[in-house]
Parts: sequence; C-alpha cells; structure tokens
Amino acid sequence: MTPFDATPSPLHPTGPAPGLVDGFGRTVTYLRVSVTDRCDLRCVYCMAEHMTFLPKTEVLSLDELDRLASAFVALGVRKLRLTGGEPLVRKGFMDLVAGLSRHLKSGALDEITLTTNGAQLARHAQGLADHGVQRINVSLDTLKPELFRRLTRGGDLVQVMAGIETAKAAGLKIKINAVALADDNADELPDLIAWAHGEGFDMTLIETMPLGEVEGDRTDQFLSLTKVRQELSAFWTLEDLPLNTGGPARYVRVAETGGRLGFITPMTHNFCEACNRVRLTCTGVLHTCLGRDDAADLRALVRGGASDVELQSAIRAAVTGKPQGHDFHIDRGSAPAVARHMSTTGG
Ligand code: SAM
Ligand code: SF4
Repeated sequence: MTPFDATPSPLHPTGPAPGLVDGFGRTVTYLRVSVTDRCDLRCVYCMAEHMTFLPKTEVLSLDELDRLASAFVALGVRKLRLTGGEPLVRKGFMDLVAGLSRHLKSGALDEITLTTNGAQLARHAQGLADHGVQRINVSLDTLKPELFRRLTRGGDLVQVMAGIETAKAAGLKIKINAVALADDNADELPDLIAWAHGEGFDMTLIETMPLGEVEGDRTDQFLSLTKVRQELSAFWTLEDLPLNTGGPARYVRVAETGGRLGFITPMTHNFCEACNRVRLTCTGVLHTCLGRDDAADLRALVRGGASDVELQSAIRAAVTGKPQGHDFHIDRGSAPAVARHMSTTGG
C-alpha cells in the first residue's frame, strides 16, 4: 500500500492512507536505517577504541529489517538510506538490498542508497548497482594514507580508493562526506574538495556532533563550517544552490571546479523546520530526531507478533510526536548531547 494507492487500507477504510505527517505539518518521506552497530574501522570522532558492540540477539534480523523498512514504505516513505556502523560488514547485507529493491521495481520507493566507509566497496559495488542502487555516500576525511590510518585507527586508504574506483566504474554516483576536524584535516579540505570534484563526485563537509562517548575532548577538534566557507571563499567562487534536501545540508557550486559542495551544520544552523527524515536503529528503535533522546521501540512490537496495522499505527504515533527541533550544544565540553553513538543511530 503506497500513499498513491487508491485502494482503501484497513487503517483508512474510506480511501488512501495519508503520508506520514508530524505534529508540525512536516511530511516524513525519508528513512535512514542502521543495519548494524559494527564496523571494520574505528574513526576517532565516532567510536571509542575498544567498543562494546551489542549482543547479536538485540540487533534486528534481516527479515525484521525488511519488515520494518517496508512498513515505512507502505506509509509513504520514498527514500531509504542504509547505514550503520558499516552496512557492508553486515552478513547478508546484499540479500537485504535485493529484497528491498522490490519497492523500487513497484514504484513505491524512489531510491535506496547507502553511506559507507568504502573499505568493502570493491567487492559489493557491482551488486549494489545490479539491485538498483544509483547513488552512494562514501566517508573520507583525508587523502593522506598515514593520517587516514590514524583517524580510522587502522584503515587502509588504498583499499578505500579501490572501492571508490570500482563503484565509479559500476556507474554509481558518488558523494564524498568528510568530517571537518580543526587539527587534522582543516588545511587539507581544499585539496580534498578539488580531488572529489575532479573525479566528478559531489562533496559534503560535516561538523562534528556530540553523539556518544569517545576518548578526548571533541570541542578541541570542532571546526565551524562558517569559518571553512569563509576561507574557501578567499580563492574560490561559491555560488549558492537552491537545492533543499530536507536535511541539514546547504549546497553551493564551486565555480572554478564546477562541482557541488555541501555544508552540514547541525550545530550552527537551524534546519529543523524542513526536516523530512526519521531514523531506525539496528535494534529497531525509531528516533524521529537525531539530536534528541526520543524513541519508539518497534522491535518489541515486531517480536511481540504485532500485525502490519499495529506496526503502522505505532509508527504514525511516533512521527506525530517528532520534536520541533534538536538540542545540540558543543559547548557542553566532551559530554555528549545524546548518549547513543552515531554508529548505532546511523549517520
Ligand atoms: N560507516 C559508514 C561511514 O562511515 O560512512 C556509515 C556510518 S557513519 C556513522 C556515517 C557518517 O557519520 C560518516 O560520514 C561519519 O563521518 C559521520 N560521523 C560519525 N560520527 C560523527 C560525529 N560524532 N560527528 C559528525 N559526523 C559523524
Ligand atoms: Fe565506522 Fe563509519 Fe563510524 Fe568510521 S564513521 S567508525 S567507518 S561507523
């Protein structure tokens, strides 16, 4: 059942189900699903060096992930982003994508995409393209092998680059995401952007967000993208683009490279009024706002034998209560604004 289905639904016996609309009139059309909390890297801003991962029984099975994602699609979600943790380390991940691709074929979904660190991409890029994935985000904070190894605590840049090349050859459209870090990559950002644009990739810069406990004081590495933008403007012409994705990114075109550059500034700008997205953790918890601790436990419903109608009612109820805005403050020092890690929630 899609919002465009004229068939009466059990919830709406008189006509088509309306989309998922929250208490502030925003329509939710975008679901991010974290398919695992595990990862083959340990980026310093994302994870502690010695992470305790969730017991497997707490993580949704592939069937449960499919059922929950499909319930959102039935309620009008048009775009799915699969993330993690690292989605490509989840066993059976390609089966999940293959299964969900039926919603692309039926026209219920516009897009399935994923956010990956790229390390396993060389093996999976062609399979993703074969299942109808057209665009992916690859996270990459530096082009320097040694720095990459340090920031990811052991990652191999050559492996990631091979993954990116394979994805490009498979016809996937690539966006590079880089977290802006005051000490580690601030000076390198122009090179990184020029490289991405030279390869024909969009590029997005992200401010660090206080999610989950990590070692060290995150405020040391916080770099305001307002400042980065000013510095880039000294030698590049940045032309504002009207593109609004319903998320915290604002886009410009760099006239000199011809490429698109996004700035994700959850800390310094209020983007919440146009927010169209919700997030499902790998444990089946629905968060309707990245920056708050609101949560609905959908796993309990699925494992308790809830019907599709009950599941959809619970999703609707949670979306109705979506908070108006987030609550991030980096000036709280290293204490996270939200206790959960990005790897659990999904970036
Ligand atoms: N493992 C995949 C990857 O790295 O692309 C997907 C999950 S990762 C959590 C998603 C995105 O979140 C990455 O681009 C990563 O750089 C970003 N991220 C992780 N922790 C962050 C933090 N504390 N602040 C800002 N971005 C963060
Ligand atoms: Fe893994 Fe992605 Fe987090 Fe890095 S940012 S540790 S790759 S989940």
